[in-house]
Amino acid sequence: MAESKRVLLASPRGYCAGVDRAVEAVERALDKHGAPVYVRKEIVHNRHVVDTLTDRGAIFVNETDEVPEGAIVVFSAHGVSPEVHRTAAERSLQTIDATCPLVTKVHQEAKRFARDDYDIVLVGHEGHEEVEGTAGEAPEHIQLVDGPDAVDNVEVRDPERVVWLSQTTLSVDETMQTVKRLREKFPNLNDPPSDDICYATQNRQVAVKAMAPKCDLVIVVGSQNSSNSQRLVEVALQNGASASYLVDYARDIDLAWLDGISTIGVTSGASVPEILVRGVIDLVAEHGFEDVETITTAEETLTFALPRELRPARSAN
Ligand code: SF4
Repeated sequence: MAESKRVLLASPRGYCAGVDRAVEAVERALDKHGAPVYVRKEIVHNRHVVDTLTDRGAIFVNETDEVPEGAIVVFSAHGVSPEVHRTAAERSLQTIDATCPLVTKVHQEAKRFARDDYDIVLVGHEGHEEVEGTAGEAPEHIQLVDGPDAVDNVEVRDPERVVWLSQTTLSVDETMQTVKRLREKFPNLNDPPSDDICYATQNRQVAVKAMAPKCDLVIVVGSQNSSNSQRLVEVALQNGASASYLVDYARDIDLAWLDGISTIGVTSGASVPEILVRGVIDLVAEHGFEDVETITTAEETLTFALPRELRPARSAN
């Protein structure tokens, strides 16, 4: 008899509070000001979201010098360096800052430790926009470390005044390995005042850890340039899934992946709309995986207020 086929659906998955706010910021800016509204970099790292907003009149640019003088520009959820704010002001751009408040928190920590003259080791991925923004707060104090092996190259002025901070979307386990290596090298290493890896990244990894040992395959819905989505594939593989793939859309699934397997895990990165997960669930159901069980490891209720430029003006009494 054929083994029964089932889907385990991770919860939490998909949109986090910072992504929800950033996408809504662009939608509200389009409603309020009309098209075009410029957006520096991808508002969030998801192809579907970027394509949908482009259809509504958003224009995505790489740098503020591509935005006409005086136009409206939204800064993405990943945050920007002070230099980007400066160049936007020089061009008289009307800025809407959709930086996630949890990224802003890391910027504040970087500024504070730089002011106190610490050497700051920023654990993160070279070239990622968030890391560029955070490092730009205090370039002369911050050095980037992208994993445990890079710790050997870290040099500091005073081993008693070193602190580590991190990108918000890293693998929790790998980051702890990096910090362990840092602490072996600098025993008096200071920790960030609170977790830099955000609640959404952590919760999605915990949910994948819970289901991965039972899965022959874990499908992560998310884009290739999405750091937190990429980490979910790694976490699935490190925690017992026989295979794991990142897909933007259901159509990216190779049906050969489903041959001879019985349990598929499904999750999605923090920048992924639920409609894309539904597409995956529907497709695998067509191939016999109709039984769906949700694996819930946390409830999320956090929401953030819109950027202040988009909040309704307070009426004067
Ligand atoms: S993944 Fe975390 S840091 Fe990034 S936007 Fe979402 S809540 Fe903010």
